[in-house]
Amino acid sequence: MNGSCICGSVTFEITGAIPALYHCYCTLCQKQGGSASNAATIVYSDRFQWKTGQAKIKKWQKDTGFSSHFCINCGSPVPNVFKSRYVWIPFGLMDRANPVAKANLWLNSKPVWAAPLDLERNYDSAPEDIKEFVQYLNASEP
Ligand SMILES: [Zn+2]
Ligand SMILES: [Zn+2]
Repeated sequence: MNGSCICGSVTFEITGAIPALYHCYCTLCQKQGGSASNAATIVYSDRFQWKTGQAKIKKWQKDTGFSSHFCINCGSPVPNVFKSRYVWIPFGLMDRANPVAKANLWLNSKPVWAAPLDLERNYDSAPEDIKEFVQYLNASEP
């Protein structure tokens, strides 16, 4: 499954089964994506490969550790590796993907004008156990 930014400079690939996605309504995702939430997933880094454009990526980091990675040519958010074994992927970058949406995160900070989908898991803030959450998103793996 391939993904790219709007201008096509940054391209990448995820191998294996299509992971499930989540919608995050935290205030950082709202600012980063310019909308009510980010639709994203997290995959294991061994299933992720950059194809082109890594030199076009700029990173902005907040004191708290949150970081936003984006294409310097078109401004699209792009994947970023964290805790050295996970890759966060903004799902709108994926081409022709047909994933299952499984969870809502940070419903405590959802804007009043957003209508979240009725999903299997609903968190008021972030999942406490990131390892378990990544396994959950990638559960369709053989
Ligand atoms: Zn771009
Ligand atoms: Zn968020």
